[in-house]
Amino acid sequence: MQSIVEAQHTFFLTHVTKDVAFRIAQLQKLKQVLQENEGLLYEAIQKDFKKSEFDTYTTELALLYLEIKDAIQYLKYWSQPKRVVTNWINFPAKSYIVPEPLGVCLVIGAWNYPYQLSLAPAIAAIAAGNTVVLKPSEIPSETSKVMKQIISENFEERFFAVIEGGIPETTELLKQRFDKIFFTGSTQVGKIVYKAAAENLTPVTLELGGKSPAFVTPSCNLKRTAQRLVWGKFINAGQTCIAPDYVLVHESIEKKFLSACKAEIEKADYAFENDNYVQIINEKNFKRLTEFITPKHIYFGGNTEASQRFIEPTILHDIGFDDKVMQEEIFGPILPVITYNALPKAIQQVQKLPKPLSCYIFSNSKKEQKQILKELSFGGGAINDTVMHISNPNLPFGGVGHSGIGNYHGEAGFKAFSHYKSVLHKANWLELSLKYAPLSKRKLWWIKQFFKL
Ligand code: NAD
Repeated sequence: MQSIVEAQHTFFLTHVTKDVAFRIAQLQKLKQVLQENEGLLYEAIQKDFKKSEFDTYTTELALLYLEIKDAIQYLKYWSQPKRVVTNWINFPAKSYIVPEPLGVCLVIGAWNYPYQLSLAPAIAAIAAGNTVVLKPSEIPSETSKVMKQIISENFEERFFAVIEGGIPETTELLKQRFDKIFFTGSTQVGKIVYKAAAENLTPVTLELGGKSPAFVTPSCNLKRTAQRLVWGKFINAGQTCIAPDYVLVHESIEKKFLSACKAEIEKADYAFENDNYVQIINEKNFKRLTEFITPKHIYFGGNTEASQRFIEPTILHDIGFDDKVMQEEIFGPILPVITYNALPKAIQQVQKLPKPLSCYIFSNSKKEQKQILKELSFGGGAINDTVMHISNPNLPFGGVGHSGIGNYHGEAGFKAFSHYKSVLHKANWLELSLKYAPLSKRKLWWIKQFFKL
């Protein structure tokens, strides 16, 4: 571990990674490696939690290809020094900001989208001219293994290395000196990473979780709302950091909303023998989730199959903020529905909880949309949709408060792994002597006149 990190520091100091042509070549190579090994990637994730080729391509690989394409297309522009205005105090001079890579970066991934969450930050780090140590989540062990295999076969360790392991290995890694740590995972572990980073004053990006609300107001298009909410909640069996965690629906449309959601779930046919529904990642999470399914609250679903780690898409109704299911991020296929009678009160309830990673607003009223956007702080989200904001690389992706620090995707990813070096470039043909000794009242008078300008 230590020798890999040291080798990366040494390699970084050769300045090879700073060359834009080198970065583009590495990104093209990564794309090719992924394309050539798609079969292996599908096989591994199928073994881990029965994720289909369709879902793996659309929710993992497609996003990685998009990130690579975007980076290759804009890299030259992103990495150029940017001229800024020079103020009169510094006349004559020019001023510019030079993006530079931070150095050796540690990327720690989460398990729920194992390829996307490990490799998208790595793509941003490479685009910005860094070296990368990637520590994928150990929980989906097959995907971790396959990433290790294809990266180590195709990239030099001193540039891009994968270190596998769980808590002991990550703890050891966090003792090394990195120039940037990019972590995706729970808020609880995020705090551990933040503390470890503080030892070396290492900058961090923390992509964390939380309870993301979805507001459904009487002005919404009910059919579209149910279709998009059900898709965003139950894709990956709810194991999505930006899945709508719970719904706040106006009491006047609750019944219609519930029945529209039921119809959408039935249409999708999420059976455990089907390809379009994944398993719960492990027994620990299966057990944790089944405890949320209180029979008196079941509106739809509730069936489970322990041997398959299968939980049917489940809708719970008559739920309040004090119920068990509202005490932590659900991260599974269980959708609690809470009714409200006045939007301001519903917003106030959400304000009492930690700032969420996402928020979804199903409403056709501009007034309601504006009110929620203005009064609630959240990482990112969508109006009249769920989850899809993640697929636009022009929208920085990240949390706020307990749901995270910093963001990435597209240029935001490049920025997350860059330092912006400010340079004042002075000309020699003129020097105003006011700041130099001997100091005098007359000089001060002049300085004061300038500041009145
Ligand atoms: P986790 O925090 O348990 O694990 C994340 C990573 O940290 C793994 O690589 C793991 O090996 C490592 N880790 C775990 N415990 C550790 C410890 N004590 N010390 C050092 N390292 C440790 O998270 P998870 O279960 O993999 O993912 C689920 C959580 O991640 C959810 O809260 C979800 O919302 C969040 N998440 C956020 C995003 C995002 O983009 N914001 C994306 C996916 C998941």
